[in-house]
Amino acid sequence: MKFQPIASHFINGEYVEDTAGEHIDVIYPATGEVIARLHSATPAIIDQALNAAKAAQAEWAAMSGTERGRVLRRAADIMRERNRELSILETHDTGKPLQETLVADATSGADALEYFGGLAGSLTGEHIPLGGGDFVYTIREALGVCVGIGAWNYPTQIACWKGAPALTCGNTMVFKPSETTPLSALKVAEILIDAGAPKGVYNVVQGYGNVGASLITDDRVAKVSLTGSVPTGRKVYAAAADGMKHVTMELGGKSPMIVFDDANIENAVSGAILGNFYSSGQVCSNGTRVFVQKGIKEAFLTRLSERLATAKIGDPLNEDVNFGPMVSENQMNIVLGYIAKGKDEGARLVHGGEPIDGDGFYLHPTVFADVTDDMAIAREEIFGPVMSVLDFDAEEEVMTRANNTEFGLAAGVFTNDLTRAHRIVAGFEAGTCYINTYNLAPVEAPFGGSKMSGVGRENSKLAINHFSEMKTVYVSMNDVEAPY
Ligand code: NAD
Repeated sequence: MKFQPIASHFINGEYVEDTAGEHIDVIYPATGEVIARLHSATPAIIDQALNAAKAAQAEWAAMSGTERGRVLRRAADIMRERNRELSILETHDTGKPLQETLVADATSGADALEYFGGLAGSLTGEHIPLGGGDFVYTIREALGVCVGIGAWNYPTQIACWKGAPALTCGNTMVFKPSETTPLSALKVAEILIDAGAPKGVYNVVQGYGNVGASLITDDRVAKVSLTGSVPTGRKVYAAAADGMKHVTMELGGKSPMIVFDDANIENAVSGAILGNFYSSGQVCSNGTRVFVQKGIKEAFLTRLSERLATAKIGDPLNEDVNFGPMVSENQMNIVLGYIAKGKDEGARLVHGGEPIDGDGFYLHPTVFADVTDDMAIAREEIFGPVMSVLDFDAEEEVMTRANNTEFGLAAGVFTNDLTRAHRIVAGFEAGTCYINTYNLAPVEAPFGGSKMSGVGRENSKLAINHFSEMKTVYVSMNDVEAPY
């Protein structure tokens, strides 16, 4: 087993195993080879992790923000120093090309650790003057033990996007990675210890959905942050509501990208490629409904096909390769099911549409044109390399159609008309919008969805509000007046 970790879980500063837990086989998507075998957390492991996080929390919160921040910033440095090794691991866990993981995974995790580490010393409450010299002050307090639950597309990034703001505010975390990609979160936990984090501040337990469900309902837990699909989000939100716990929900999408006929076609094609095929299309915010104004539709499709023909599909460890396999056989089959539906429903297949022979879970980047709003490929999240191109005539019409979805994660517009760009963005029902670009998610900017795509925001200073709460303190400088 090439990537077998010391043990399945990381609790209270060390690796812990309990072989009584169900097997989790970690499969390298490029070959189908089993590269590690882990065990899902048993109730005893879950209890141990929550106890460790609970015990560590008061002391961690009592440290100054600057001290906590120093730990996170050291962890960011270590992640950057170990970037290549971590990227190779991430490539084996997810199948994403090394060309991508070298720049988008451990590095974006490090960005989060550095950014939130930098904020830690400046987290404060406020002073609110009242009449007659009385005043109120607020104290920003940690929530307590936070649970993070991850999806499989950006395992290192998700572990850090949740862990960094949680720890910055003085919380501790129990993180459950996706069972499909369980390896890299263990490295994040190890690195935090190497950076000086006290034991128990960041713990990792492995497991399927049932382990996530047990974590959420535990009384020791104050907050749950999930990255996953809408159906899982519904269950997690409901379970958290029962205990009145704080939540952040980063869920799925079916985001629109609108290309007007005055747009720079080359840039619009680049945006559509980034917004549909990066990470083999396994990105939540992807602009998978590409509305192209009729005047440039064929020019857009021609250029798109020409450029897709130059994609380098193959061994993800070869740094020239820029398109890798799907994360799992199961995900590949889900996507193939949607490709079959697209064909059945009468969409025009312009590019791809087939799996690639050989080991590994490879699909060609796929483009359908002449897609209509009612087709399954235009309504449902596919989470794979399938772009649906729809056409439109007028701005008002496309605005209505773009918003006609239960999702509201992201939306983009390509146009050279400045006022139209801002008008369109103002009309989008989405949490994250793009003008003449697509799919950036820098840590400095809030990221998250509206409608069914989520609750709350990750990244930026806003994330601090989702991992802390205010205690209000009234101070009287005067005698107390009572009516009798
Ligand atoms: P998923 O919903 O199947 O699983 C997500 C996580 O939830 C996994 O760790 C899983 O074990 C856990 N889980 C499942 N059932 C649970 C339950 N009842 N209680 C607690 N935890 C449970 O999602 P996935 O297939 O891993 O990831 C793909 C989905 O994630 C897509 O819908 C994608 O759009 C979404 N996603 C969203 C974002 C975002 O930031 N908005 C980012 C990445 C992925």
